[in-house]
Amino acid sequence: MITRNTEETIALGEKLGKLLSRGDVIALKGDLAGGKTTFTKGIGQALNIREVINSPTFTILKIYKGKQTLYHIDAYRLENNEYDLGIGEYEDEGIMVIEWPEYYKSYLPEEYLEIRFTYLDDDKRQIDFIAHGPKYEKIAEVMNVDTMY
Ligand code: ADP
Ligand code: MG
Repeated sequence: MITRNTEETIALGEKLGKLLSRGDVIALKGDLAGGKTTFTKGIGQALNIREVINSPTFTILKIYKGKQTLYHIDAYRLENNEYDLGIGEYEDEGIMVIEWPEYYKSYLPEEYLEIRFTYLDDDKRQIDFIAHGPKYEKIAEVMNVDTMY
């Protein structure tokens, strides 16, 4: 669907956050400034995370405590170095959100939810949900419906 401003992308992230459960893996792909980190803020709201979620580019991994633990990864700086963050160990403990998963190919499990962000103009972003594996089919279907709630 298309969001028309930052707040709508946060609301969409919040909608997804309410559908997630422990062990879920979400891969955020797409343009720089596409809204990946903004969307993650919405997931954080749904998980009652009080800390401000911002771009983890310089730390690669940030861990936030909420109703579920959120593991927020930005793999951009890994550049496919195949550096092992040991993330797999945490998978069952919370929710994984990975920006730039294409730079961390060694990690992605067989099943995950992909979200594609496309920069349309200053304020508009197209956001599409693609299920990889049956586990995420229902969620992708619900999220691709053209309504925020
Ligand atoms: P990414 O993590 O994909 O690089 P960010 O979420 O960090 O992107 O940045 C998106 C930027 O675009 C923010 O400055 C945000 O305020 C702005 N923006 C404008 N319109 C939107 C929108 N519809 N959805 C998300 N962000 C938007
Ligand atoms: Mg980002």
